[in-house]
Amino acid sequence: MDDKVKIRCPACTRVFREKANRIRDGLQVNCHNCNKLITLTKETEDPFLRRALKTAREIRAAQDAAVFAKTYSTAATAPKREPS
Ligand SMILES: [Zn+2]
Repeated sequence: MDDKVKIRCPACTRVFREKANRIRDGLQVNCHNCNKLITLTKETEDPFLRRALKTAREIRAAQDAAVFAKTYSTAATAPKREPS
């Protein structure tokens, strides 16, 4: 699964990628291209940054669901053994 979120720098408009589990409201990150400090906040006027926050939240939710499903299926199948 792709766990990176695209962030579009408001200064140089180039796109770089950041890990979704790092991205949360209020995160400050330097642009990988022009090194400008970007603040990711829900209150931003920049629709690209708002979208990055939303995407990160969705990816984290999907990761949590995957971990849960894996844990659950392991617990459910481990004690059971088909007699041969
Ligand atoms: Zn930049």
